Parts: sequence; structure tokens; C-alpha cells
Amino acid sequence: MNIILLGPPGAGKGTQSAGLVERHGMKQLSTGDMLRAAVKAQTPVGMEAKAVMERGELVSDQIVSSLIDENLAAMPGDQGAIFDGYPRTGAQAADLDRILEKNGRKLDHVIELGVDVDALVERITGRFSCANCGALYHDTANPPSKEGECDVCGSHEFKRRPDDYEETVRTRMDEYRAKTAPILPGYEARRIVSRVDGMGGIDEVAGAIDAILS
Ligand code: ADP
Ligand code: ADP
Ligand code: ZN
Repeated sequence: MNIILLGPPGAGKGTQSAGLVERHGMKQLSTGDMLRAAVKAQTPVGMEAKAVMERGELVSDQIVSSLIDENLAAMPGDQGAIFDGYPRTGAQAADLDRILEKNGRKLDHVIELGVDVDALVERITGRFSCANCGALYHDTANPPSKEGECDVCGSHEFKRRPDDYEETVRTRMDEYRAKTAPILPGYEARRIVSRVDGMGGIDEVAGAIDAILS
């Protein structure tokens, strides 16, 4: 099973991917996570992407498609892939078709997480993660069960992303509307798009996604 989780920044793609990995043993391929790792490691890709990401703009198609290509090729053929935050442009969607074909895979579902814009800003400005294991949290909607301690690994260190501020969030939304939303009709024509209401609780959204996959 190969699926795309599509939705604007803050829709819950990362949170739902983590759930799918846990429930179904799929692998999450998040270009945002890959790029952040490259920035941290100061690789050539990371050096090129850093400023673009901080402005909330899109990194080049060539960079992100190469990352997906490399990571997918390294997966066992029978493990399902979740594309999280990729593709984000028409060119990336075309790249993904080629990459999947090369690996003998096909796209089963494009799941669109629908959320309202006001909620997104709230979600993103409240987002933080465990500095040790990357588990995702939210100040009010999804705090660790014990304050200041990661539920998953027990770490006491947390971090916030440098692009999770209100001005940047607006740019990221504009990029989504202008460049990412237009790839949906192509997938609709292939009858693989399902819409999920992303405004429900995390478990409710997870249930709706599982219903589509079953
Ligand atoms: P994305 O990967 O689409 O940008 P995330 O999964 O990182 O989104 O979620 C953004 C923020 O919203 C995180 O702080 C996360 O804990 C929180 N969040 C995710 N899903 C929900 C939900 N269904 N209800 C409330 N908050 C959520
Ligand atoms: P979000 O919470 O906005 O879904 P991501 O972690 O997916 O965040 O992406 C963070 C940033 O990384 C984006 O704003 C963009 O600069 C860059 N990025 C991630 N994925 C892509 C992609 N597929 N194409 C271009 N840029 C990307
Ligand atoms: Zn942790």
C-alpha cells in the first residue's frame, strides 16, 4: 500500500503518519523531516534548503524528488510507504509517478486532510516536538501526559521549528494554495482521492484513515 497524505501545513500529516507507522508498520517518507535532517547535518542539500525553509517557501523539485527516490529505493518492496508533505507541485507529482513505477509500486490512495485556516495557525504556533525522539506534541491539543516529559522516550528536552511562526505560516499556506492544491484534480481523475475531516480529534482522524485503507 502506497499513500499520499495531503493537506496544508498543520493539517496533521506528521501526526497521522506516526500513527500509521505504529499501527500498520508502514514507512513515513517526510520530505520536511529529510530536509531538516540535511540542514542539521549541514550537507550541501541542507545548506541550499535552509534559508528557503525559513522563509516558508518551497525547496526545489529536483532536491525533494531525489530525496524521495533515494529513500524509496532503500525500502523493502513489501513495506507500505506514506508520502508526507510530498508531492507539493505538479512537477513533483509527475516525478513520484516515475519513481513509483521504477520501484514496481503503485499509488493506492491520496488522503486529503481538510482543516480550516484559523485552526491551522493555532496548530502550528502550538506545535513542538521531543528533541530526542521527534514525537509530536501541541501546547493545548496534545501535550505530553506528564508535563515536561516525553511520553515516548522520557526525555525532558523539547524543541520548536524555526519556521513555525505566524508570518511564515501565512507564506506556507499561500504556497499550498498556489502550488499544491492544484495537483488534486489530476489524482481525482484517477479516482484515488479520499477526503477526511481533519478537524476531529487525533484518534477520530486516525479511525477515518484506517477505514479508507481497509
Ligand atoms: P503537519 O505535518 O500536517 O504539518 P502535524 O501533524 O505536525 O501537521 O500537526 C500540527 C500540530 O497540530 C501538532 O502540534 C500536532 O500535535 C497538532 N495536531 C495534529 N492533529 C491534531 C488534531 N486532530 N487535533 C488537534 N491537534 C492536532
Ligand atoms: P508542514 O508542517 O508545513 O507540512 P513540512 O515539514 O512538510 O511542513 O515542510 C517544511 C518545509 O520544508 C516547507 O515549508 C518547505 O520549505 C520544505 N519542504 C518540505 N517538503 C517539501 C516539498 N515536497 N517540496 C518543496 N519544499 C518542501
Ligand atoms: Zn521523546
